[in-house]
Amino acid sequence: MLTDYHLHLRPDEDDTTFDRYFTAENVERYRAAASAVGIEELGVAEHVYRFRQSLDLWRHPLWVENAHDDLDAYCEFVRGTPLRLGVECDYVPGAEERIEALLGARDFDYVVGSVHFIGDGDAAVDHDGFDVWESDGDAEEIWRRYFEALAACARSGLYDILAHPDLVKVWGRSRPLPERDLRAFYEPAVEAIAESGIAVEVSTAGLRKPVGELYPSRQFAEMCVEAGASFALSSDAHLPEQVGFEYDRAVDFLGELGIDEICVFEQRQRSQAPLGARVG
Ligand SMILES: [Zn+2]
Ligand SMILES: [Zn+2]
Repeated sequence: MLTDYHLHLRPDEDDTTFDRYFTAENVERYRAAASAVGIEELGVAEHVYRFRQSLDLWRHPLWVENAHDDLDAYCEFVRGTPLRLGVECDYVPGAEERIEALLGARDFDYVVGSVHFIGDGDAAVDHDGFDVWESDGDAEEIWRRYFEALAACARSGLYDILAHPDLVKVWGRSRPLPERDLRAFYEPAVEAIAESGIAVEVSTAGLRKPVGELYPSRQFAEMCVEAGASFALSSDAHLPEQVGFEYDRAVDFLGELGIDEICVFEQRQRSQAPLGARVG
């Protein structure tokens, strides 16, 4: 079995209206791309901030600018397709009850939890419009805060899958790395992963980014394995041609870690399936 659960049906750009991308034809393009590489389980996890309902959780300027669509119309559309229904929902500290209410009111198959923004302000680790590296602190501080936020995301119990777990590295060599052993930064997140049992996403998206690596790093993944974590597999595609992107590398990576099962989800119930191989 191969899965691709963290899919977006459109790019993160202006002018990507719901009506243009949430169509049977577009879903069919994703399905065709998936079956060409042997992916059986496909699910969509649109960014929560594209929906008006997200403004109950947070009024980040990026969210205010993008929150045009209706979350219930999205759920209804996806339920009319063969795709699993997911959503990528940021962890917003202090908004736990509102996140729980928003998620609990809908019949998602799974919820992908992510950390893009850190600190008290609007700064993001992966968005050059709100770049944390321009505003806040040094590498040690940014990495520490990122992984503390990731730990809180895991520990919140709100999510099934922990997205792109070391996203803070996304810019690669164009940003400084902490001087300390990176395992010291991973540690609080690994502890929270172990306590919560959340599935850790192995994402090939990092291979398309300046860092040019899978999320998570090998060291981080090894610590997760040692802590008994389960894994989910995704590409974070924003286009049909990114479905299953470089999956042979992810499959090899999991194999080298001694992982032979991946998580599958239905109605927020998790089970394990034997890890398959990419074809073609
Ligand atoms: Zn994300
Ligand atoms: Zn995503």
